[in-house]
Amino acid sequence: MNNAYLFDIDGTLLKIKNKANRKIIQSILNRLGIAENNVEELDFAGKTDRSIFSTLLDDPQESLFNEVKELYIGELDTRLAAGDIHVYEGVEDSLAYLAGRSAATGLLTGNFERAARIKLERIGLNSHFSFGAFGDRHHNRNDLPPEAHKQLQDQSGSDYQPEQLVIIGDTPRDIRCARAFGSVAVAVATGTFSRDELARHKPDVLLTSLEEFPDWDRAFTAGNGRG
Ligand SMILES: [Mg+2]
Repeated sequence: MNNAYLFDIDGTLLKIKNKANRKIIQSILNRLGIAENNVEELDFAGKTDRSIFSTLLDDPQESLFNEVKELYIGELDTRLAAGDIHVYEGVEDSLAYLAGRSAATGLLTGNFERAARIKLERIGLNSHFSFGAFGDRHHNRNDLPPEAHKQLQDQSGSDYQPEQLVIIGDTPRDIRCARAFGSVAVAVATGTFSRDELARHKPDVLLTSLEEFPDWDRAFTAGNGRG
């Protein structure tokens, strides 16, 4: 059986230019009179949107959380343009390569599901990802791989083992969540962490960008007999 591939979004597939999404969040908080945080300065790396918004709203009631979530998603949909998004080198080739192999390809991201889909729709990549785990409910990224795994099993009808999941991301949290589930951790140094910083967290493989991904994967799948 083939491996299945789970991609993080921000820092891995794309970068939102000029912190456009953070400006949207800041403007919503300002409007609601919750303006003590400088959203552009906060560390979002590898965190789930549930965790980020819970911190920004200081452990809110569910009704306030949902109100702000809906405002954010609505404004993201209205305001985010394709020109606000930089797609990293090698992303489109890597996705075409996996599609050519008919490999199961999904998302493992801290984004709210609809935010993830909006970002990917803008750049025409949404249809590559048939399943995924998202940051709507979970505070801890380590809770996402089991959810993605279950969706994969349900959708494919195949019995994938955790070690057949390849989890690709740009932060130590991505590496840790792959490790916690017994999956393959692929780190890419396109986000805010350098190769040296990521290497300290001992991913199974460290790529400078996804340009290196198809060659790595060909060798990896040949090596473990899963090509
Ligand atoms: Mg990321």
